Amino acid sequence: MFRNFKLVPNVIFGRGCFSQLDEIIEKQRADKDAWAVFVTDDVFQGKDLEKRIPLHNNDLLLWVNVDDEPKTSYVDKLTLEVRNTRSTLPCAVIGIGGGSSMDLAKAIALMLTNEGSSTLYQGWDLIKNPAIYHAAVPTLSGTGAEVSRTTVLTGPEKKLGMNSDYTVFDQIVLDPELIRDVPRDQHFYTGMDCYIHCVESLEGTFLNEFSKSYGEKSLDLCRQVFVDNHPDKDDKLMMASFFGGMSIAYSQVGACHALSYGLSYVLGTHHGIGCCITFDVLEEYYPDGVKEFRTMMETSGIDLPRGLTANLTDTQMETMITVALGLDPLWENCLGKDWKSIMTRDKARSLFLKI
Ligand code: NAD
Ligand code: ZN
Repeated sequence: MFRNFKLVPNVIFGRGCFSQLDEIIEKQRADKDAWAVFVTDDVFQGKDLEKRIPLHNNDLLLWVNVDDEPKTSYVDKLTLEVRNTRSTLPCAVIGIGGGSSMDLAKAIALMLTNEGSSTLYQGWDLIKNPAIYHAAVPTLSGTGAEVSRTTVLTGPEKKLGMNSDYTVFDQIVLDPELIRDVPRDQHFYTGMDCYIHCVESLEGTFLNEFSKSYGEKSLDLCRQVFVDNHPDKDDKLMMASFFGGMSIAYSQVGACHALSYGLSYVLGTHHGIGCCITFDVLEEYYPDGVKEFRTMMETSGIDLPRGLTANLTDTQMETMITVALGLDPLWENCLGKDWKSIMTRDKARSLFLKI
């Protein structure tokens, strides 16, 4: 069975294109009462970008905090806040920020038209009704959240996305000027998320020409950013993120993402840094990728924290292993159909102990 892959229908790219956001959203404002919600990372409070958000009278500027990566409880709270703002639903939800803020915007747009808590929809194709029109403006590049059909959420029982065709953004605004001031460490961690997406996709058993074409180009762009320090590196990383997302959408990620999900579920480690720490111990599976990753880390002057699992209780370690090994497709992509005989609980434990 081949998947019929839903794409983002509208993309605008270029330095300064954020200025066109108003005219893009205008098309969604059917009458004078129509209102939009700008789901915006609170890191921009008081910054120049705040003044450039094209707010109309009835619009809601919803600041979101991403110190913790998105949780279902936070999505439910924010959705209620939007519902209680006016008696009508908004005509558009626009996410401005990194992967976390974009995922929150996707989740709010979905939950405004689907009953109950977001915990009910963590899984594949559980969403019943189309979302409110939703758009993304990335201010941090690497996750590929701008093109994916998921919004990753941590719930009381699991860390799992709401995966559906309705999750895909209707519009993305790719303005490389917006990622210029990302702190160096964060730029590296999220950029490496993209690099690791490509390595896992290109080294995986699910590889096909669609994923390969996007993955190879994305990897090439990552090298221009993190090895060559190219003067147009912001433009390049923004496109690398987009292409990396396209590559995994039609293949899968692998061992690094599976293990880092376990790490993040138990310790709350953020996605980008969690992937970096995990990838660094996966030489056995991705020898060339890990070698190049270490060179990029050195060039970027990044030191990774170590010893994260040193003080775990047995129960925490067992949970970490269970969460990681629960991601069957990721392991099958990395190690083939027979993966369970290779990635045993003991093997996973030995890898976690190196982290
Ligand atoms: P993030 O959105 O969590 O942001 C990281 C930090 O960078 C935050 O403190 C944020 O405030 C700050 N920041 C963002 N833009 C900035 C800017 N321009 N200048 C200064 N600071 C800025 O980081 P991320 O790595 O982009 O996203 C990680 C999240 O994305 C995780 O929740 C992960 O689960 C999710 N994710 C989603 C997908 C998907 O397909 N939906 C894929 C991969 C990861
Ligand atoms: Zn990732």
